[in-house]
Amino acid sequence: MSNQAILQIKTLYKHFPVAHTVKDRLARRPHQVVHAVDGVSFDVARGEILALVGESGSGKTTVGMNILGLQVPTRGQILFDGHNIADWAKGRLRPDGSPEDLGKLSRRRQIMALHRRAQMVFQDPYESLNPRQRIFDIVAEPLEIHGLVSNREEKQARVRAALEDSGLVPADHFWNRYPDELSGGQRQRVVIAGALVLEPELLIADEPVSMLDVSIRAEILTLLQNLRLAHGITILYTTHDLATAGYFTDRMAVMYLGRIVEIGPTIEVLKAPCHPYTQALVSVAPVPNPRKRRKRMILQGEVPNPIQVPPGCRFHPRCPLAEERCKQSDPPFVEVTQNHKAACLLL
Ligand code: SF4
Repeated sequence: MSNQAILQIKTLYKHFPVAHTVKDRLARRPHQVVHAVDGVSFDVARGEILALVGESGSGKTTVGMNILGLQVPTRGQILFDGHNIADWAKGRLRPDGSPEDLGKLSRRRQIMALHRRAQMVFQDPYESLNPRQRIFDIVAEPLEIHGLVSNREEKQARVRAALEDSGLVPADHFWNRYPDELSGGQRQRVVIAGALVLEPELLIADEPVSMLDVSIRAEILTLLQNLRLAHGITILYTTHDLATAGYFTDRMAVMYLGRIVEIGPTIEVLKAPCHPYTQALVSVAPVPNPRKRRKRMILQGEVPNPIQVPPGCRFHPRCPLAEERCKQSDPPFVEVTQNHKAACLLL
């Protein structure tokens, strides 16, 4: 896998310091951090669609922000096509390299160069579009920022291709409109077109359908799948929704409290989940045939505070199968079948 991997995440940590008040200092309370991402590793092969699944607060969006250099990792490596983005984000320069070596550029230009090849589609199509800009200008803006077109004809051709690839056909029927003249699904297609216009190799789709009506979710997911087929785009799809992840992804990584607890081929993870957390998620996910529904496994309690991560297995306060040893030992990953791994002491 790693030979063809466009993206390799190696023991990535992202901790956010909690503000230390005067009261804290007087009471000699130690500095605290939010463990948003706490030692995450995975690869994504070129042309693959990987789902990063987890509840809100599991750290999946933070992983995406770090991959795009929008946040600086606390530790770990993020290799995009062999280059360590974690170093670029810190503004470190790399001495080696070809003309393509982004390490020779300033931090801002490194991140710009990265964003020509890797783009993010955000969750909320209502917030991510400027209501005062026409659709044409919204989609053309990244081309101008990156200085990729030299004349109006070229710009029109690229905007037209991006809009039509995103399912807004014919493009000139849409490009003079404003966002509030479009439906939620059409707006999300405009957001996707704004990412596609740069012809990226990697798309990070952060909960792209969670704000949309159920009736148009499948259309947007099918669009993403078609983009992979037509352009070979690699997609990292972050979601809390197992059903949509099962619809179109190749592999699935399940996150809990800043860690991946299970990763494997999507079909296998959904059919035979190994980690109790994944088992609970699968048991409550909607299924087309109610007779095939599993016995529901309802988790007790809330996700613990990421400032005070439980010792041992971090899932133990909510795990229905927890044993005494789970409070002390942090479970390592165990290979269940080829390419399917989970972190539980019972495996
Ligand atoms: Fe549950 Fe223990 Fe497995 Fe953690 S290690 S998931 S607490 S059984």
